[in-house]
Amino acid sequence: YKLIEGEKLRKKLHNTILELKGNIRVFCRVRPLLPDEGNTEGKIITYPTSMEASGRGIELAQSGQKYSFTFDKVFEPDASQEEVFVEISQLVQSALDGYKVCIFAYGQTGSGKTYTMMGRPGHPEEKGLIPRSLEQIFETKQSLLSQGWNYEMQVSMLEIYNETIRDLLSTNRPSFENGTPGKQYTIKHDASGNTHVTDLTVVDVQSVREVAYLLNQAANSRSVGKTQMNEQSSRSHFVFTLRIFGINESTDQQVQGVLNLIDLAGSERLAKSGSTGDRLKETQSINKSLSSLSDVIFALAKKEDHVPYRNSKLTYLLQPCLGGDSKTLMFVNISPESSSVVESLCSLRFASRVNACEIGTPRRQT
Ligand code: ADP
Repeated sequence: YKLIEGEKLRKKLHNTILELKGNIRVFCRVRPLLPDEGNTEGKIITYPTSMEASGRGIELAQSGQKYSFTFDKVFEPDASQEEVFVEISQLVQSALDGYKVCIFAYGQTGSGKTYTMMGRPGHPEEKGLIPRSLEQIFETKQSLLSQGWNYEMQVSMLEIYNETIRDLLSTNRPSFENGTPGKQYTIKHDASGNTHVTDLTVVDVQSVREVAYLLNQAANSRSVGKTQMNEQSSRSHFVFTLRIFGINESTDQQVQGVLNLIDLAGSERLAKSGSTGDRLKETQSINKSLSSLSDVIFALAKKEDHVPYRNSKLTYLLQPCLGGDSKTLMFVNISPESSSVVESLCSLRFASRVNACEIGTPRRQT
């Protein structure tokens, strides 16, 4: 009993610290080595065991230097999807309470972003944050009926590629696959902080099954691009949006929440991808939007007067859901392979800029 109470107290303290830190959190997740990756000689990633850094620290060794970072949470490779979800379930819940929530997955291609968000296809026990969040939301919706709450939900899914929006739920799919530019989707924010993307398909949903069907449709729509456009999906940002409208008939209370789950484009740098031509343009637009995202979150964390939302489609689209009393969580996904060490260091640096709590890092350009 004492142990349970102690654990509760520890969690409460942890949550209080997070509350004090504000509405931006960063979680780091290191994926396991895959069967075909063998054993990379010498561990490049270690985890500090000291009281203050345990569960929150990560160390990366590169060229004889050790770089240390701390985040709100670090998930080691053996962390299950369930364990990861437990840590975000409260955040997901807050969308039902009327908050605007954004959860991002950031990292190089192959670092586990899609696994974290969607899970492994054909392995239901390894489903990711999107299906788990939806299950929780629809279950809670059901249980709140007895307290007079009625919720309506709407889903939209889009991807942003080369600063162009593509509707993943459109049935007459305008596409970039065959070189024909799609519709010009225009982003508008109204006075009450709601975002409208002209002509974007928005679907009313009543159940997890319906959303699962739409997710499947979106995945098919993306994979067409993938084969025809050099694995385009890793070069585009995937944005899943669930809008929640709640009304309590007995108390006349109303809430409007939004849950955005975003699988970002691969963060690999120009040099590694050896970009030229179209690929160079893609990489530059990815770099631009990822650095705009970092600039926005950084400005918010520093409570700066000017937040540069307009510098990219992604940040402009999400403007009402970033800042104010909205809640933001970023996963930085890391590959444990030694060949990825430079990318991993870049990702950790990016994330610690967002988190603003990098410690003891030698000043060295990599
Ligand atoms: P990304 O979306 O960043 O390009 P993926 O999510 O596709 O990367 O992950 C790359 C590979 O690693 C996939 O085969 C995926 O199933 C596997 N993977 C990623 N994270 C994990 C994990 N935590 N546990 C097991 N396998 C993982």
